[in-house]
Amino acid sequence: MQCSCCYHDVAEGLATCPVCGFPVLTVGDTTEENRRMIEEYRASKLKQITIDLQVFSYEVRADGVSDTGSAWRPLAGASQLRSDAVFWSDLVCQQMTSDRAFTMRVRMRMGSGSREQLVTLKPDKPVSRERVGVIAAEDFKFRLAVGNRDAYILSEPIGML
Ligand SMILES: [Zn+2]
Repeated sequence: MQCSCCYHDVAEGLATCPVCGFPVLTVGDTTEENRRMIEEYRASKLKQITIDLQVFSYEVRADGVSDTGSAWRPLAGASQLRSDAVFWSDLVCQQMTSDRAFTMRVRMRMGSGSREQLVTLKPDKPVSRERVGVIAAEDFKFRLAVGNRDAYILSEPIGML
């Protein structure tokens, strides 16, 4: 079965979804009241989810550039996201233009729990890796946007939970 709230598969016999905690509804149980309950539950979940991005810092020395570590920076709150416009974060990436595939690591945080995921982006055109943004996708997912307001590429959908 599929959870009516977050769309994850739920094993037969469970009363609530193990991913989002929403009660499992009987198939065909889509009354107006249920729909409203699902919407409210989704909205309350979204308010609790923060998406972070792993950023690396570098130091330029006489003998070259060295990696000085990494840190998590908040990218967006899930409730800030829209499906028709990219939410651009303040994070500035490397100022480089490239058409080669690259990876970024994101972390989805809710309460004391979190989940990390490595995301590979494959540009179909040379893209300037200036800014990172987020756009909502269907079924409790989002996509990373990399570029700038005029030209950007999107990642595959990533689950928020
Ligand atoms: Zn669920």
